[in-house]
Amino acid sequence: MSDKPEKFIDENGLRLDGRRVDEIRPMKMEIGVLSRADGSCYLEWGKNKVLAAVYGPRELHPRRLQKADSALIRYRYNMAAFSVEDRIRPGPSRRSIEISKVSREAFEPVVLTHLYPGAVIDVFAEVLQADAGTRTAAINAACMALADAGIPMKGLVSACAVGKVDGQLVLDLNKPEDNYGDADIPMAMTSDGEITLVQMDGDVTPEEFKQAIEMCKEGCRQIMEIQKETLRNKFTKLDDVEISDD
Ligand code: UDP
Repeated sequence: MSDKPEKFIDENGLRLDGRRVDEIRPMKMEIGVLSRADGSCYLEWGKNKVLAAVYGPRELHPRRLQKADSALIRYRYNMAAFSVEDRIRPGPSRRSIEISKVSREAFEPVVLTHLYPGAVIDVFAEVLQADAGTRTAAINAACMALADAGIPMKGLVSACAVGKVDGQLVLDLNKPEDNYGDADIPMAMTSDGEITLVQMDGDVTPEEFKQAIEMCKEGCRQIMEIQKETLRNKFTKLDDVEISDD
């Protein structure tokens, strides 16, 4: 691991990777990348690389786990053994179980689960390369995989983190900021600005916390534009295809 930098923000207000404090890392995504999944998305965000796959809605077995009035959402966040500097031991860890739980909860308010009683919707988010912000990257990819699978949702969910370095709030932490900064606050939001995930590691003042929410909202708004554009690109292309009567 690299050493703690002396300064995170230079005299011109630029961060170690050249970004402004309110700038997110470059993001690109593609949907429909896995033929066996009902929906899928490959996302790159800075140096993070994440693959998300959605299966369902399909009947849940064993039947005793079924919910009579809605579908069950299952979410599995996993870091590939080769995704980080030190190899990660394969299999669930306390960290991945916690991230899977809070990420599932980030989708529960938007997925119209009542339409599929007795069913299950499985979401898999595989981190192939990690560079800080993987839980939020995974949520952004998972949202696109859900949309690609045609799962009815009230709206999209997007996620990013705000942190604090050199006494200043910064949007979308890079690795040194995540490792050595004073705070890390990942959040997820719906298109209506409803917060569906907020976690906090470190310390900020109540005033800074309010500012962090506003910064995050702006980051999520930008990400949502990329998500919408990705969907538009795929589905307008489908509209262009002529449907024959044969
Ligand atoms: N990380 C790592 N090994 C681990 C967990 C995390 O090397 O077992 C790295 C990885 O680059 C990750 C970063 O530390 O993106 C920050 O991890 P954190 O737990 O804050 O979650 P994230 O920011 O990825 O959601």
